[in-house]
Amino acid sequence: MPLKCALCERNATLKRPKTGEALCKECFFVAFESEVHDTIRKEINFRRGESVAVAASGGKDSTVLAYIMKLLNERHDYGLNLMLLSIDEGITGYRDDSLETVKRNEVQYGLPLRVVSYKELYGWTMDEIVQQIGLKNNCTFCGVFRRQALDRGAAMEKVDRIVTGHNADDIAETVLMNILRGDIARLQRCTAITTSGGDGGIPRSKPFKYTYEKEIVMYAYFKKLDYFSTECIYSPNAYRGHARTFLKDLESIRSTAIIDIIHSGERLSFRETVKFPKLGTCSQCGYISSQPLCKACILLEGLNKGLPRLAVGKTHTAKVRSQLFDGKGKEKDKCDAEKPDKVKSSLDF
Ligand code: SF4
Ligand code: ZN
Repeated sequence: MPLKCALCERNATLKRPKTGEALCKECFFVAFESEVHDTIRKEINFRRGESVAVAASGGKDSTVLAYIMKLLNERHDYGLNLMLLSIDEGITGYRDDSLETVKRNEVQYGLPLRVVSYKELYGWTMDEIVQQIGLKNNCTFCGVFRRQALDRGAAMEKVDRIVTGHNADDIAETVLMNILRGDIARLQRCTAITTSGGDGGIPRSKPFKYTYEKEIVMYAYFKKLDYFSTECIYSPNAYRGHARTFLKDLESIRSTAIIDIIHSGERLSFRETVKFPKLGTCSQCGYISSQPLCKACILLEGLNKGLPRLAVGKTHTAKVRSQLFDGKGKEKDKCDAEKPDKVKSSLDF
């Protein structure tokens, strides 16, 4: 006898990773979509008429996000003006292909697309940066530049908010990594569903904060969405990889582990003794920074002066600043670089 769907009379076609329920495809779609809608309704205060940019990489998370934002915006009449915003890091054989996917999504979903490139903003592509620095610290440059590039792209398009495809697994991984590094101050930012950009910064929200990665993959698969699933050719990121493997092992024993870790991160982040970095603006480029000079400007200066390695890392930052900037920006580095995208393909359910 085929297994019946737990919610209707149809035969089950899948087992929900989040709850273990056997469901048919249609009931899974309803559950998935209503959970994201609930998160948006309860925790993200969209205003009618807001312009919202979906940070679109062409990968499964942002593709599903773009699809579902459009769907829910129409179904529940949020009144949002949606668009797609993509960053072209300049990685041949990876980003050029994934941008083709975003361009197809632009047509499929009828959402306008803006692409901003590292080359136009910083004068360097990631291919050129990797030629300079090799494959060790490339993700540091890429993560810092991407975070700022998204803000700058959003400012160019005058959007009120950015939504990103960070899912529950990403957030749980980041909680684990921050705990492993003893960086309690960052727990607050990484578990917050919306991080305000500070002075003039554009708020960023994560509608998939409670959505499991496996369910995003299932949704994309059963909806036959057009997404790109090749890994970045420069992706080493061993530390996050270990945190990810650890998390997947925990999840296989107890599926609530992912949400439990997020909740632990939220509770830990309310300790009053933790000092949070104050956000201001960079004296060089004018974008958000917790220090007089933002991390993007420091990295860029290192690249332009042919000393890229000097600008990476925290321990020698004061020395580096004085070497690169003649003593400007003496405070300890505390830039909130975005963690690199995880870029693995998975249909492992
Ligand atoms: Fe950039 Fe991500 Fe590739 Fe690292 S893995 S170089 S952060 S796209
Ligand atoms: Zn700057």
